Amino acid sequence: MSPTVNATAQPLDVAAIRRDFPLLSRILHGKPVVYLDSAVSGQMPLRTIERMAKYERDEHTNVHRGVSTLSQEATDAYEAAREKVRKFIGAASIKEIVWTRGTTESINLVAQTFGRMKVGAGDEILLSAMEHHADIVPWQMLAEEKGATLKVIPLTDDGELILDSLDELITDRTRIVGVVHVSNVLGTINPVKEIIARAHAKGVPVLVDGAQAVPHLKVDVKDLDADFYVFSGHKLSGPTGIGVLYGKLAHLDAMPPWHGGGNMIRSVSWEKTTYIAAPGKFEAGTPPIAAAIGLGESIDYLEALGLDRIAAHEHELLAYATEKLSAIPGLRILGQAKDKASVLSFVVDGIHAHDMGSLLDGEGVVVRAGHHCAQPIMTRFGVPATTRASFAYFNTREDVDVLVSAVLKAIEIFK
Ligand code: PLP
Repeated sequence: MSPTVNATAQPLDVAAIRRDFPLLSRILHGKPVVYLDSAVSGQMPLRTIERMAKYERDEHTNVHRGVSTLSQEATDAYEAAREKVRKFIGAASIKEIVWTRGTTESINLVAQTFGRMKVGAGDEILLSAMEHHADIVPWQMLAEEKGATLKVIPLTDDGELILDSLDELITDRTRIVGVVHVSNVLGTINPVKEIIARAHAKGVPVLVDGAQAVPHLKVDVKDLDADFYVFSGHKLSGPTGIGVLYGKLAHLDAMPPWHGGGNMIRSVSWEKTTYIAAPGKFEAGTPPIAAAIGLGESIDYLEALGLDRIAAHEHELLAYATEKLSAIPGLRILGQAKDKASVLSFVVDGIHAHDMGSLLDGEGVVVRAGHHCAQPIMTRFGVPATTRASFAYFNTREDVDVLVSAVLKAIEIFK
């Protein structure tokens, strides 16, 4: 059992949970849909969809604008969602919770503000070899602009970070470390608390990409001591278009704004503009209000299910799927870390991942096929692409059985 899973957690009532997700009763190509693509985007429970519809139907107006009752109601609901996020990740204050459009925007914000302040010519940015492009490209753009270099924490063949060399990789030129909490390709749960402690021992701040972690693990940013922690709403059973940047208040206070415009200013004159404090100074313009409220509702839903029960259920499915898929000749699973979340990438001899993905789709099985926005991992493992199944709290052993039969059918077709 993975060290991050509570083996004594009460089982989930999956049959009841499935009724909360209308999409799970769809028929695709004449087959009941088997949704194994929650790592690409989690499904939203009905109550989130209804809460967003209620805002649009009965409450729709802008936030932080004027004294109208409607605007105050919308502002209250929107700010209540921020408080739910704060509590969900254990942040000290709602001032540390910045709304963004998603993980990608959160990292770009940090790179373009904190990064630009801290990184200069000859400095280093340390990333792990299993980062998503969202935690590579913004840093690469910054490094090119500033004349800095990227360094990389390497991987074992099992898909675990090699931390022996961490103390040498963090030098007196390292300005920030970026590390993914859970790999979207390998499923590896990285020991981010240890990485943060070792970086902090050398005075280096750490950004954690939590996009694939928050749906599966109980995250406590204070306990981790993360400087920045970022994630997307749509991977957390919430809507698209909303994401979170958690930052320690001292960092956010020291950072300049990024986007300028309405809603983030204290005063504007032709001579000078002054800004409100964090998080508002990073939230120029009209935010995605319905999406923020929807994310808050999804967090309530997940908390009612219980993150430890979700993790235990998904872990059981992962173990079952790993056992079944490993038994198929010619199939190789990428990522065999000791501590894994419910993401399972594989390749099959003689079948391109895209062909596998299309054949599975024909069987109603929704998976992701491709490089998963993580081309350096593909290069590391010498494959162009993988097929990835990812399991959520609404999936069942029967879903895994359908996946396995569909994979076997694809292999037959390609024989
Ligand atoms: N980081 C990881 C680990 C991811 O899996 C993803 C999305 O797949 C992202 C970042 C980017 O998230 P978004 O596209 O929601 O900004």
